[in-house]
Amino acid sequence: VETARLVASRVLDVPDFPQPGVVFKDLMPLFADGDAFREVIDGIVAHHGRESFDVVVGIEARGFVVAAAIAYATGVGVVPVRKAGKLPRPAYAASYALEYGEATLEVHQDAFTAGHRVLVVDDVLATGGTAAATLDLVERAGGTVAGFSVLVELSFLGGRQRLAPRPVHALLTV
Ligand code: 5GP
Repeated sequence: VETARLVASRVLDVPDFPQPGVVFKDLMPLFADGDAFREVIDGIVAHHGRESFDVVVGIEARGFVVAAAIAYATGVGVVPVRKAGKLPRPAYAASYALEYGEATLEVHQDAFTAGHRVLVVDDVLATGGTAAATLDLVERAGGTVAGFSVLVELSFLGGRQRLAPRPVHALLTV
C-alpha cells in the first residue's frame, strides 16, 4: 500500500498523448527519483523472491530501465525484448493488434538457456497485448516464465484478464 502510494505520487497524467482521448501515465518522475526508484525495484524483487528467477526480460523501451536495475540488484543477466528490426541476429517474432494496425516484438533465438526462469518486467500494463506477446516469445525461445511485474496497471483496459491464468504483479493498480 505504501509503495503504491509512492508510485502514485510520482506518476503524471498527460491528457491527449500520444493521441486525443488517451490519458498517458508518465513514469519519468518516478525513474528520476533515486529513493522512489530503488523502492520500486526492491519491491519487485521482494515480491517474487531473489531465488525465483535466473534472468530478467525488459520490454522496449521503458521496461529496459526497470529490468536493468533488477538485474544489477540481484546479480542476474538482462535480456531485451525489442521492437521489430532492431535485433542483429536470428530472432523469434510475435505480432499483436493495436487499436490501429499491428506491432511486432522480437527476441534473439538464443536468448535463454533452456529451462531458465525468466522474470518479465515493463513499466505499464494496459490492454496486455505487449505482455502477452512477450510471454509467448520467452517460451518460444526456451525460457520458463517465472513472473510478470509492472509498476502501473491500468485495470480498466483488461490486461490482467487477457493474461489469465498467469499472475500479474503490479505495484500500483488504477
Ligand atoms: P498494452 O500492450 O498493454 O496495451 O500496452 C502496454 C505497453 O504500452 C507497455 O510497453 C507500455 O510501456 C506502453 N504504454 C501503454 N500505455 C501507457 C501509458 O499510459 N504510460 C506508459 N508509460 N506506457 C504505456
